[in-house]
Amino acid sequence: MQTHFTTEQLRDPDIASSNRELRTCVHCGFCTATCPTFLLLGDELDSPRGRIYLIKDMLETGRPATEDVVRHVDRCLSCLSCMTTCPSGVNYMHLVDHARAYIEQTYKRPWPERMIRAALGALIPNPSAFRVALAGAQLARPLAGLIPGQGMLSQRLRAMLRLAPASTPSPSPIERPAIHPAIGPRKARVALLAGCAQQVLAPSINEATIRLLTRLGVEVVIAREAGCCGSLNHHMGQHDAAMARARANIEAWNAEIGVGGLDAIIVNASGCGTTIKDYGFMFRAEDAPLREKAERVSSLALDVTEFLTRFGYTPSRPAPDLTVAYHAACSLQHGQKVTADPKTLLKAAGFRVVEPAEGHICCGSAGTYNLLQPAIANQLRDRKLGNLRATRPDLIAAGNIGCITQLGGDTLPVVHTIELLDWMAGGPRPEPLKN
Ligand code: SF4
Ligand code: SF4
Repeated sequence: MQTHFTTEQLRDPDIASSNRELRTCVHCGFCTATCPTFLLLGDELDSPRGRIYLIKDMLETGRPATEDVVRHVDRCLSCLSCMTTCPSGVNYMHLVDHARAYIEQTYKRPWPERMIRAALGALIPNPSAFRVALAGAQLARPLAGLIPGQGMLSQRLRAMLRLAPASTPSPSPIERPAIHPAIGPRKARVALLAGCAQQVLAPSINEATIRLLTRLGVEVVIAREAGCCGSLNHHMGQHDAAMARARANIEAWNAEIGVGGLDAIIVNASGCGTTIKDYGFMFRAEDAPLREKAERVSSLALDVTEFLTRFGYTPSRPAPDLTVAYHAACSLQHGQKVTADPKTLLKAAGFRVVEPAEGHICCGSAGTYNLLQPAIANQLRDRKLGNLRATRPDLIAAGNIGCITQLGGDTLPVVHTIELLDWMAGGPRPEPLKN
């Protein structure tokens, strides 16, 4: 694709990066076939290629984003299915991330939308504030059906109440900054991202991760000052907040590297893993110490299933006679290209593993997407659940809290992959499987 940026524009590292990606695109349109929004809406402007044209025009002219561009970019899930399909290797993630930040700087959204986005960007990454917000949402939950209208604001409020869990688990002491020593001789030392929303919604995931890793001989550090990875803000174009959160993690983990060394930085929420693996890119224009620290963090970041595959995993319980439908989170399969490891580990643990049709299509969770674009998100959830149910499983396993929340509440239990692996290696039976 030809581009026409001026030399002055290309001095901006974000424009230079987007220019490279735009020029890599040969507008073949292969990506449209696997784009969930094109699949549902059938509009070229809701396909990757259409969005790429819109982004190109917006950036080249340097004009403020228009309502039309904002509508189509907002409808993008950032599921990155298009990146898996693209034969030319276009990094659509970097393009759309740049577009979202540009929109945030140049477009004034209606005030209710600004308020909702600001609230989501401030509350969800902060576990204490998120817990309070969830308590409020739980109280208001019975009123969801009374919210009138079909406008976007009404839809969003209903989605927020519907997605709030009926109750919130108590905070787990295991997630406080601490060192969890290896059981037996120490074979590795890792940092674990304790995260933000996940530790409020399902502390059992970090508990299972720490139990399993320490049992295998891995020392697990929850670093002081590390917190939300920044992806939630990043995907809403809230650049400064995203960079501040990322920077705090980079400094915290580099401090840990300085103290006792780290063999890996373990992430058990794949949406966060995709962003942390991209810290090197996000900080590429910074001065050397910070840039190098960010690159170091990205190079050490591993999804927990990647780590276990390399490190070794052996179950200690007999096979459980359960069929698991494995739901591949987009951030894991498209963002990180981790596809085989979770399934191989689940099979090694003794589960029968089945995969749904359209496994490459997003479930509609996508960070805050199910709150901001509930109509599309609901269609994708129903489609995904239909495909999962068709495999006739006993339960669903996924490696991302967003997907677990989005697919939960149905008749099928939804469990994090690591909880199943921990159970089969001596941990407790996951709570959703106790009934
Ligand atoms: S598949 Fe790749 S090269 Fe082809 S239109 Fe899509 S992004 Fe461009
Ligand atoms: S990220 Fe997903 S929704 Fe967005 S353009 Fe690519 S395939 Fe479509």
